Amino acid sequence: MPDWSQKVRDVPDFPKPGIVFKDIMPVLADAEAFTDAIVAMARPWRDLPIDAIVCIEARGFLLGAPLARELGCGLVPLRKPGKLPGATLEQRYALEYGTDALEAQAGALAPGARVLLVDDVLATGGTLLAAHALAQRMEAHVVGAGVLLELAFLDGRARWNGIAPLHAAMVV
Ligand code: AMP
Repeated sequence: MPDWSQKVRDVPDFPKPGIVFKDIMPVLADAEAFTDAIVAMARPWRDLPIDAIVCIEARGFLLGAPLARELGCGLVPLRKPGKLPGATLEQRYALEYGTDALEAQAGALAPGARVLLVDDVLATGGTLLAAHALAQRMEAHVVGAGVLLELAFLDGRARWNGIAPLHAAMVV
């Protein structure tokens, strides 16, 4: 296991009983671990033309921004409803209980733009699939998806179903 991955901290029963929250903040707090984690996330995509990282509020922003600089591309944020000014596109998705939604600014991606979806954790896959749906509605080409950490036991990868290459820098 790379050194940076040992800084991911398990927090039992957060944000609710029975959930083991994967806290990536100690990775970001350490200069060397942060750099190594971003390099690990960048590795599969270095030789591909990518116009923009499309990253998901909020921890996806913390990884997506340095990754965009590492890969030399732009960044388009997907935010919780009501945060982005101007015309937006909304994508609703199911959670274990209830629904959530992500929004993108209309016109933030040119049709045909080559994008990489980025988030911190792949759990059941619903969030990444919603991001993919939004990117498709904007007529972007999803080159792939990258996460820092994949929780394999939740089978998000099966739900993702190979719709684009999916890379996790660490799998637990
Ligand atoms: P999912 O849609 O189930 O794949 O959940 C992924 C989203 O929820 C990501 O944006 C994560 O930040 C967050 N998430 C889900 N489960 C966890 C977990 N155990 N630890 C940290 N974040 C999580």
